[in-house]
Amino acid sequence: MGRPTGFLEIKRQDRQYKPVAERVLHYDEFIIPLSQDQVSEQGARCMDCGIPFCHQGCPINNVIPDWNDLVSKNHWQQALAVLHSTNNFPEFTGRICPAPCEAACTLNFTADAPVTIRTIECAIVDKGWEQGWIKPQVPAHRTGKSVAIVGSGPAGLACAQQLVRAGHKVTVYEKNNRLGGLLRYGIPDFKFNKNHIDRRIAQMQAEGVTFHPNTTVGEKLPASQLLTEFNAVVLAGGSEQARCLPASVKGHDAQGVHRAMDFLSQQNKKVSGDGLGRIQPIDAKGKQVVVIGGGDTGSDCVGTSIRQGAARVTQLEIMPQPPQKEAKPVVWPNWPNKMRTSSSQEEGCQRDWSVSTKEIITDEQGKVSALKVVRVDWSAGYPQEIAGSEFTLKADLVLLAMGFVHPVHEGLLVQTAVDLDERGNVQANDCDYSTSIDKVFVAGDMRRGQSLVVWAIREGRQAARAVDAYLMGFSDLPR
Ligand SMILES: Cc1cc2nc3c(=O)[nH]c(=O)nc-3n(C[C@H](O)[C@H](O)[C@H](O)COP(=O)(O)OP(=O)(O)OC[C@H]3O[C@@H](n4cnc5c(N)ncnc54)[C@H](O)[C@@H]3O)c2cc1C
Ligand code: SF4
Repeated sequence: MGRPTGFLEIKRQDRQYKPVAERVLHYDEFIIPLSQDQVSEQGARCMDCGIPFCHQGCPINNVIPDWNDLVSKNHWQQALAVLHSTNNFPEFTGRICPAPCEAACTLNFTADAPVTIRTIECAIVDKGWEQGWIKPQVPAHRTGKSVAIVGSGPAGLACAQQLVRAGHKVTVYEKNNRLGGLLRYGIPDFKFNKNHIDRRIAQMQAEGVTFHPNTTVGEKLPASQLLTEFNAVVLAGGSEQARCLPASVKGHDAQGVHRAMDFLSQQNKKVSGDGLGRIQPIDAKGKQVVVIGGGDTGSDCVGTSIRQGAARVTQLEIMPQPPQKEAKPVVWPNWPNKMRTSSSQEEGCQRDWSVSTKEIITDEQGKVSALKVVRVDWSAGYPQEIAGSEFTLKADLVLLAMGFVHPVHEGLLVQTAVDLDERGNVQANDCDYSTSIDKVFVAGDMRRGQSLVVWAIREGRQAARAVDAYLMGFSDLPR
């Protein structure tokens, strides 16, 4: 523990954002980091609890009190080693993880002011890159075994890095022209600069991973070829089947109604300098934008629309408005359902809850012109329309951010013939990650359904251990 009375003497201090008026003019990250001394002081607030609930709150079980202690004593390089012992990519999670660890921190329960764990995590790894401490870890020996990984999102990347460090020959196949999965094409640059992925890809290439972008397994490359050529195959293709408005909603497929990922990926491509080719551009400039869906993806649509110059942005959520504060004695140390406002929502979006879409109203050309919506009552546990509560919202761009139902089945999954679970995800448990087909494993959103980057990293690491044990009969890789 950095300072036994630190939690009594030092106030919580976290990173701030650049002002809204400034940040909406560009697509760069806008978090203002704390100074090294400030981070070190924040680390000294950690009480090193006998039972560190933050460990259990963090899906990758980061050893949080240990690195808090090390930064409070200015032992940054050791802190980085501890951080990397559980997390391959702390600069990803240090920027975009919702930080369930902080919800689980004892200081959240006692003082409503958890240790700024995510900020400390990010500061440690950013310093590691700045100082040149992060180097490729080339394995001392090679096993002669080969593994193919399908998908280069956080699950595929974490799995690849663990397996190559265990000495296996690892090849990653990715259907897109750039690597990173949703980190690259879903999450906007203003939340997560793509340079963070490029640096890790370079590190992994130096460690021996081979990447094949522009290669769709199940189309260009038959899945059967991977099964013949490799000793093991890991499916890490994400959960890409978007949930859409039901066909019973009139106008659900009108012109001007788009899936969030079609909109977000276009902007990310533009920022990276890639052309859109023959894809029809979707632009929010000067438009009345309505985002359907109140989660992270919806929020990213809000921030992107604002940067593109939308006239007005409204975000609708079918669920009721959550309480401002959680009942801590009931929910702590678990992740609470409570009112949160994202940086994008702060930038000028109107939000509404308990609203369901009844119809997309179109003009004579078939273009969306308004939304007919109705308020719903959740008191029975499911949404019931409130009679007479219908209203219309002017709209000329509607973005559907209603989540993802399961992975795409056509191609890869049909060809590998793996069993699916009742939700349509690939069936496997989180101990051996093996599918119903011999030597085929699965990790990340493709197994657990739409989730978080930190869970994808965890699954990639754990699947790597399972594959290593399958190939070698034992594994020294951490779970
Ligand atoms: C808009 C948006 C914002 C988000 N924001 C956050 C956030 O702020 N914080 C957070 O923690 N999580 C966030 N998430 C969730 C997070 O991005 C995902 O949970 C995570 O990326 C899942 O990782 P994955 O590796 O399992 O899959 P993905 O990241 O989806 O990667 C799968 C990869 O597999 C490739 N692939 C699929 N099929 C094939 C095939 N047949 N052949 C070759 N390649 C294939 C895909 O092209 C993709 O690159 C967000 C999600 C979205 C959509
Ligand atoms: S990965 Fe997420 S949950 Fe884990 S320590 Fe970092 S911010 Fe917290």
